[in-house]
Amino acid sequence: MQRILVLPGDGIGPEIVKEALKVLDRVAELEGLELGIDEGLIGGAAYDAAGEPYPQATREIAREADAILLGAVGGPQYEALERSKRPERGLLGIRADLGLFANLRPAILYPQLAAASTLRPEVVAGLDLLIVRELTGDIYFGQPRGVEVRNGQRVGFNTAVYSETEIERIARVGFDAALKRGRRLCSVDKANVLEVSELWREVVTRVGQDYPEVELSHMYVDNAAMQLVRAPKQFDVMVTGNIFGDILSDEASMLTGSIGMLPSASLNAEGAGLYEPIHGSAPDIAGQDIANPIATVLSVAMLLRHSLGHEAGARRIEDAVGRVLDQGLRTADIHSEGATLVGTTAMGDALVAALGE
Ligand code: NAD
Repeated sequence: MQRILVLPGDGIGPEIVKEALKVLDRVAELEGLELGIDEGLIGGAAYDAAGEPYPQATREIAREADAILLGAVGGPQYEALERSKRPERGLLGIRADLGLFANLRPAILYPQLAAASTLRPEVVAGLDLLIVRELTGDIYFGQPRGVEVRNGQRVGFNTAVYSETEIERIARVGFDAALKRGRRLCSVDKANVLEVSELWREVVTRVGQDYPEVELSHMYVDNAAMQLVRAPKQFDVMVTGNIFGDILSDEASMLTGSIGMLPSASLNAEGAGLYEPIHGSAPDIAGQDIANPIATVLSVAMLLRHSLGHEAGARRIEDAVGRVLDQGLRTADIHSEGATLVGTTAMGDALVAALGE
């Protein structure tokens, strides 16, 4: 039996996670999966109940879980807390604790929602790309770092560092993901300027020899940023370091224009992962049954694919989302004229029904 830890969190988190669990239950039933589901506390909800955003009890179940489904954390009522107690510390804590080094961010624009993008529909309709971002290295963590006085003025500095081992393991995540998709991987770097990128390119190329079925290309990050808005459908999977991935994944998600639709995954070396929508806890709409649960439902699809190895279940969910959009059902954030406006619960019910027999 595979174990899943569910962490609803704050704001709209509990509402959207509830719908996602309805979908997961039904998929498990249809596909004959045996799952053990635990629920735990994180973020502001954990602070309220236990005085800590990532309590020991959550830590213990998280380490045992095969996969974790998280809603979102945060809210205005927690902003005055001291830094170590804030909800976001819960997220940072669980990421560090589980060694989640690979962040997978798909940017998918269902053709039915092409009008939501700021780009012309023909440029983005049907967009389906995956950005694989390294999450625990690079200039965000490299030493030395700091601010010091040099020649009478303050100087700030950080260091971009990647070891061969770090590059190799994220490259493998990229190649493995490409194998399950369109079999094309674009590695993004700045090898014309940075030594760390030269090594990156060399190691990714070497790893590529183990994946003859995947077509590997390399692109400088400035060009990649431009190509993403010029012709984003040229990409299948992109793999890149922490800082480039931070920027490119946000750029790519905004191509779709619908924050309520996009899931994400963060994986560790054992294949366990944390799955969550890319959006936050949306306190402005919490408790009103209007939040879009689809990003969380699609996070369940990623969970099935990447941590439970259940591609059929993942596809079933992704197809159900397409079917519900075809039926014209829309939550408020993706609603347009002529479509049927539904709330969070009704969207969840429609998705469950669309999963099939
Ligand atoms: P947000 O993503 O929560 O909301 C931005 C806007 O998008 C809001 O107008 C919101 O109503 C809307 N929105 C977001 N998700 C939606 C959904 N599923 N359906 C419909 N509309 C949706 O970002 P924010 O307002 O900057 O942050 C709110 C809180 O969330 C803050 O406390 C922030 O720290 C936290 N946050 C948490 C995470 C996370 O848990 N991973 C990520 C980002 C922000």
